[in-house]
Amino acid sequence: MKRGFLFFVGALLFCGFLQQQDRFVQRRYEDVDDYMNARKRLIQAERDMRLDAGITLTPEEEEANLKLITLKKREIERTQEYFPPAHSFLKSKTRRLIDQSPILEIMKRMPKGGILHGHGYAMGDFHWLVKHASYLPNCYIYQGKKEPPRKVSMTVSAESPGDGWRLVGDLRKAANNVEEFDEELYQSITLGEEDLGQPDIWAEFRKCFARSQGVLRDEIRSGFYRKMLRDMIAENVQYVETRGGLGGQEIIEEIQRDNPEFMVKYISPSRRSDPRERIAKSLTQALDEREANPGLMIGFDLVDEEDKNQTNLDFINELLETRHEAGRRGITLPFYLHSGESNWTENENVLDAVLLDSRRIGHGLALFKHPLLMQIVKERGIAIEVCPISNQVLGYVADLRNHPAVLFINSGLPVVICPDDPGIWKCSFSYDFYAAFMAWGLDLKCLKQLAMNSLLYSAMAPEEKERALGHWHEKWAKFIAWLNEYKV
Ligand SMILES: [Zn+2]
Repeated sequence: MKRGFLFFVGALLFCGFLQQQDRFVQRRYEDVDDYMNARKRLIQAERDMRLDAGITLTPEEEEANLKLITLKKREIERTQEYFPPAHSFLKSKTRRLIDQSPILEIMKRMPKGGILHGHGYAMGDFHWLVKHASYLPNCYIYQGKKEPPRKVSMTVSAESPGDGWRLVGDLRKAANNVEEFDEELYQSITLGEEDLGQPDIWAEFRKCFARSQGVLRDEIRSGFYRKMLRDMIAENVQYVETRGGLGGQEIIEEIQRDNPEFMVKYISPSRRSDPRERIAKSLTQALDEREANPGLMIGFDLVDEEDKNQTNLDFINELLETRHEAGRRGITLPFYLHSGESNWTENENVLDAVLLDSRRIGHGLALFKHPLLMQIVKERGIAIEVCPISNQVLGYVADLRNHPAVLFINSGLPVVICPDDPGIWKCSFSYDFYAAFMAWGLDLKCLKQLAMNSLLYSAMAPEEKERALGHWHEKWAKFIAWLNEYKV
């Protein structure tokens, strides 16, 4: 009897499955109309799986969407010879094709909500650093014959730091062309087309930090962060969760005087390359900070190149012990682990990030190789912090049309778009939206969900989130009105 019943249920499910299949794939199509109807149903069924399936556009948004799609087609025509997302951003940036794009202008204008993955000062304007820090009378740069110091190779100091260090001002005076000299200096603290041929792009990437971080002192430091935050706000960012500082509370409060809705929270980052003892110490420090200020300090992350450094699993003792300690203290220390930023299928960091209940996953590129993990990530609402331009620049996705995020978005995984270190590749957050919009088949509906996700999947308290979303909706309505007025 029981077996018979199970067979009956099984047969019913199987018929349901067949019926489901029949809705799209038919053995015989009466005519082209019949075929086209089946085709339409299949496309709709796929659309219903997408991350924006819950959104219904208003008539005004529908109108804006039509315009945006027209503009996208025009942009594809304009860039027929050279479609920027299909080539390294380092090359595209030199060609200035994106800079002149109306789509970029729109992406700048679009209220993007928050930045959930960015590394402190690496989100700032490095041109500004050249124009200001390197013009200080006491700015030194290392020009010695030996390998430049790994951590700081340009600095502001009352006295020469030692052998091989020269005053930037003296070098500039001796240069034939000041503009060229400054451009070279800018190139040395950023990544560009000249770095494309380098055997190790991460090594070049690290050099940019080494050459720039030493000058972030006193008024240069405050001026730099002030400009960075104002630039973000000008590109309609209202919230940041940062790995690394943003100039300190005083500067943030100063910015908030004109922009009361702007908010910042911090994720404590440690380097995967650090020795175990240091990681343990950083974890304890993060716990202390979180205990003292849970509204501001939201969690812990492991950063740096995954392939050449220790894995999440390598620190399993420390990470689990921290969770236990947090429990004993009656607090939590959520993890926001960089995981799966790798080309290697052997990389298992996403697996451990999920097991460790990471609140979000940084990059998560490797996730597309793990169907079960994708399912868990979707069910548990673990947002994937996707950084398109960073992934291309650092060598993980050559042509952004093939970025795994397309799978994540189309499967309805909670994706957020993030900029990572845009200052280092000479751009800003809006460029990532340009790339995603142009390369991933997105429309206004999807852009809306992506922007909202950056607030929904943030670590804000419920009342903060509600307020932030309210503010975002107001800005969004204005953006739609602006877009509808936009001359095509
Ligand atoms: Zn990162």
